[in-house]
Amino acid sequence: MKTFWKCNVCGDVHYGNAGPDVCPTCQAKNAYQEIDKKEAKKVMAF
Ligand SMILES: [Zn+2]
Repeated sequence: MKTFWKCNVCGDVHYGNAGPDVCPTCQAKNAYQEIDKKEAKKVMAF
């Protein structure tokens, strides 16, 4: 099941089965944490 992931360094949000190993925006390693839909909505401003 796909969920939302957020980089805790730059706040970038990714949607998928897992967060990226390296953030494409700030290059932080293993910085992605799973967040719930409500928080993703807040961050992404749908
Ligand atoms: Zn980042």
